[in-house]
Amino acid sequence: MKLLIFDIDGTLTHLDGATRRAFDAAYLRVFGVHAVTDTLKLHGRTDPLIFRDCFGMSGLTGDWEQAYQTFRSAYLEALPGCISASKKIHLHPGIAELLNELDKRRDLAALALGTGNMEAGARIKIGQFGLNRYFPAGGFGDTHHDRADILRDAVRSAETHYNRAFEKSDTWVIGDTIHDIEGGQAVGLRTMGVATGGAFTRDDLVAAHADVVFDNLSETKTVIRAFGMD
Ligand SMILES: [Mg+2]
Repeated sequence: MKLLIFDIDGTLTHLDGATRRAFDAAYLRVFGVHAVTDTLKLHGRTDPLIFRDCFGMSGLTGDWEQAYQTFRSAYLEALPGCISASKKIHLHPGIAELLNELDKRRDLAALALGTGNMEAGARIKIGQFGLNRYFPAGGFGDTHHDRADILRDAVRSAETHYNRAFEKSDTWVIGDTIHDIEGGQAVGLRTMGVATGGAFTRDDLVAAHADVVFDNLSETKTVIRAFGMD
């Protein structure tokens, strides 16, 4: 039995900057200043850490973790509208077909999320495409800052949900950044890089020693075979 842990942004979805817009709208509403997200790297980082850096750079003072809780509610309120306002949001090539095929092989593969998004934000993002039903388990950015810890959480969550253990050699991390790959490697999992996110090229993912690298996941049969399933 395989366990397949998918990243969201850049791997499953393209949200056309909606995350950044929701972040800024919430930030402006709560703190009265624009978030400096244009100078912040969002890729592969957790929501609380992005907020912490932004908080410091905006010259705001006080306890950032307390401020984050207020910001978090405003962000979750802003996110759905920012996503639905864009006509350019889409799933990356082959994602719908791949998830559909994997769903037919539920006896061979279990699915989970592994993302730096706070869980409620993650659920809003993939809910836009009706994908929540595929991902009953996951590791999220709410409680951990380190990608490896998030992935450990994803495995634990999947083991609880599916009520079984998964071999590390049967557990795959699928992501668009070298952070996904390095996080998976740190936990001893298999890694699949997919160069759909735009921040990292196929060569970057190869250089990070992902076990498998694809330009996109449109070749459903080839991708399923790469997981060792036929
Ligand atoms: Mg990503």
